[in-house]
Amino acid sequence: AEPRSVVARATPITPRLTLLVLRDITERERLEEMRRDFVANTSHELKTPVGAVTLLAEAIESASDDPEQVRYFAGRLTAEATRLGQLTSRIMNLSRLQSAEDLTELRDVSIDEVVTAALESQAVAADSAGITVVRGGDRGLYVRGDVQILIEAVGNLIANAIAYSPAGGQVGVGVKRADDHVEIAVTDRGIGIPEAEQERVFERFYRADQARSRRTGGTGLGLSIVKHAVQRHGGEVLLWSRPGRGSTFTIRLSAVEPAGAVTAHKKSKK
Ligand code: ADP
Repeated sequence: AEPRSVVARATPITPRLTLLVLRDITERERLEEMRRDFVANTSHELKTPVGAVTLLAEAIESASDDPEQVRYFAGRLTAEATRLGQLTSRIMNLSRLQSAEDLTELRDVSIDEVVTAALESQAVAADSAGITVVRGGDRGLYVRGDVQILIEAVGNLIANAIAYSPAGGQVGVGVKRADDHVEIAVTDRGIGIPEAEQERVFERFYRADQARSRRTGGTGLGLSIVKHAVQRHGGEVLLWSRPGRGSTFTIRLSAVEPAGAVTAHKKSKK
């Protein structure tokens, strides 16, 4: 209510100032709306797994004299609880990225380090899907950023490339320098995304129908996290995709020359 009255009182100031005030209010309203939507979406998305956990716990109680059944329900309970854990941690990450809080861990980040860690985080998934991940391109590039957030963003793209590829497929992770930018491209030859959905897949909790029926277990938050993570770094995410042909997601960030010597990052982190 209070911001509107600012507009009402804006008559004496110059048109330019009025415009600035208006813009500021629109931005504030937009943020407030985003926050409200986020809480609503989140509560809705949490209801399903929480409901499942409750039902499974009840099923275990009533099946207590049948060890076979208890084991079966307990297995499903563990799977649901794991998914709930993944969902909550993603929600927290996204909410942190969307908040006005500054990124605190800024430093010169080696893209080699980011790609290595992102690949490691998806190694088990690639293995169990029988997918070969091929890494290539330029080495020794740096950006200014938060290494954990960048690892998560690239990891999410690799996770999707694996998840939406046919078993036995190939996924590529390529890095290149383009003028004063670094591009990290993740390519698959999987199901692809229809043009009409290409913008929407970056919305939180959005999942293309095709994928919904093909694969359970996703959260619909991965790409939203990628988008916000990259935006917080002043970069952008580009998408090329054709249904049936595959997809390439490219993260573009400003390149920096590392402050220290090129060898400064050689001590590999564990
Ligand atoms: P999810 O957890 O469902 O994968 P994401 O936010 O990561 O959530 O992705 C949103 C939707 O975008 C997915 O449900 C899927 O429909 C589509 N998508 C994302 N990555 C790919 C890809 N590499 N190939 C095809 N579809 C994809």
